[in-house]
Amino acid sequence: MRSFNLWILDGADSIGGNKIALTSEGEGLFLDFGVNMRKKRAYEVSYRVLAIANKMFYHLYSEILPRIRGIYRSDLIELDERVKEMLANQPELSIQAALISHAHIDHYGAIGFLSNEITVAVSNSMKTMIEAMAESSSYDIEGEIFRLRDRREERREEARRTCEIFEEGKHVSNIPFNVKTYPVDHSVPAAFGFLIEDASLAYTGDIRIHGPRRDLTEKFLEKIRGVDYLLIEGTRIDTSTNISEENVFKRIEEYVAEKPDKFACIIVSSTDLDRVRSIFEIAERLGRVPILSPRLIYLIDKLMETESKIALPSLKNACIYFERRSLYGGGYDLSPRHYRRWMREVYESRLDGKKDGELKKAEEVSKGQDKYILIANNLDYVLEIAQIRPEPGSRLIVSTSEPHDEEQEISWGKFLEWVDLLRLDLRIAHSSGHADRESILRMIEEVDPKVIIPIHTERPYEFQRLKRLGYIKCNVILPNINGSLSWDRAHGNLNKLDH
Ligand SMILES: [Zn+2]
Repeated sequence: MRSFNLWILDGADSIGGNKIALTSEGEGLFLDFGVNMRKKRAYEVSYRVLAIANKMFYHLYSEILPRIRGIYRSDLIELDERVKEMLANQPELSIQAALISHAHIDHYGAIGFLSNEITVAVSNSMKTMIEAMAESSSYDIEGEIFRLRDRREERREEARRTCEIFEEGKHVSNIPFNVKTYPVDHSVPAAFGFLIEDASLAYTGDIRIHGPRRDLTEKFLEKIRGVDYLLIEGTRIDTSTNISEENVFKRIEEYVAEKPDKFACIIVSSTDLDRVRSIFEIAERLGRVPILSPRLIYLIDKLMETESKIALPSLKNACIYFERRSLYGGGYDLSPRHYRRWMREVYESRLDGKKDGELKKAEEVSKGQDKYILIANNLDYVLEIAQIRPEPGSRLIVSTSEPHDEEQEISWGKFLEWVDLLRLDLRIAHSSGHADRESILRMIEEVDPKVIIPIHTERPYEFQRLKRLGYIKCNVILPNINGSLSWDRAHGNLNKLDH
C-alpha cells in the first residue's frame, strides 16, 4: 500500500486560491491551481506588476504564487535571473497533472504560470468556458491555460499544453492516481467534486445544496460516503443564512415588475448560466426582451459550438448589446482597430444573419426603455448604462456571486457614485454559490469521513469549535501552508510534516 502526501500550498485560510498538491512516490497531482484574489488585490497595485517582464517576480515575491521548484514554466524562469534565484533553494514538487474543479479563476487562474509539461485535466464544458473567458478578457500569461507562447523565442509561436478531457462519473485518464469526477451544484455549471480512490480522499471543490442542481451534490455525497479524508470547502462556515436560488428569482421578478415603465438592468456573473437562463424566463413572463452583453453571448456561442451539455437559453428572441467603440463610422466601425477579435466575431455573425440575436445600440434601447432587461456581467457596465441614459428611478439589480470569483474591474465605491449620478434605483438579489454552516455539517455527517480538512475559508477555526461542541464527530485537521499531511493507506497513520 502506498503512502500519500497532501500539501495545501494556498487556499488554507482564504476564500479561493486553491492549490492543493497530492503526491506519492514521485507522482503528483494538483487539485486546482487558482488565484488567491485577496492576495492578488492586496499586492497588485499598478502597471508595474502587470508588465509580463515583472509579473512572475512580483507574484513569487508576494507569494501570490507559492515558491516551489519544478512546477513553473521554464521560459519565465530562464529569462529572469531574479526568479531563478528566488526559487533556487525552495522545496521541489514532481507534478504531472492539474485537475480543475470548475471554471472560476480562484480555482484555475494561475495555471498560465505552470510548466507546459503538466497536463491540465478539465471537462469539455469547463474548457470551453475557460477559453471563452480568457479570450474575452485582457489576460496575458494568466490566459495561457491551454495554449502558451514561449517567451524565449523571437517568433513566439503558440504551443499547446497537454489537455485531458474528463467525463463525469468516470476515471480520468493519463493523470496520476485513480480519480473519479462527479458534478456538483455551484454557481457555475460543470462544477465537479473528486474522489481520489487510491488515497481514500475526496475533494468537494466549491459546493452547495440549495441551488437548482442540488441533486448532483446529493449524488456526489453518496458516492464518496465513508472516505478516510474529506477536503471540504468552508466559505460560509460562519453563517447560517441560506437564501435559495428560487428566492433570488422571485425577488428579481418583483424588483423588475415594480417598475413597469422604466429601464431595468441585472448584473450577474457571466458563467452563472443557470441564473442567466432563469432571468430569460422572468423577462418572458414580464413581456420584456433580454439584451445580453457581448461577453455573455461569446460564451454561449462557444458552448453551443462545442456541443456542451449545459442547458443554454435560446437566443432567437434575445438581443445583444452593441458596444460603441470607435470615434469613426458613427461609433460602430467594426475594424480591428476598434473592436477585439472575439467581439467582432459576436457582432459580425449577427450582422450577416448567421446566428440568432438582434444587435441593439444604446440609443435604440434608450427609445424603448420599458421593453428590455439588460443582462450585464460586471459592475463596470454601469458605464454602458450611462450611454442608454435611463429614466431617473430605473432599476438596477446586482445579482453577482461573491466578489472573489469575479474580476470586478471597478470598485463598489465608484460603482455607487455612478448609480447616484444616473439616479438608478439599486437592489441586491443574491444567493451564494456556497453551502452555509448547517449544510456543511449535514454534508460531513452524510459522508462520515475519518478526517475532514477544511479549505477555501477565512474561518477554519470554526470547524474546530464545531467539533468541540459536538456538531462535528470526525477529526478536524487544519491545514498549514508551510507543512503537509502524510498518510500510509496500510496503517492509516497520519503525520504532519514541516517544509
Ligand atoms: Zn467557485
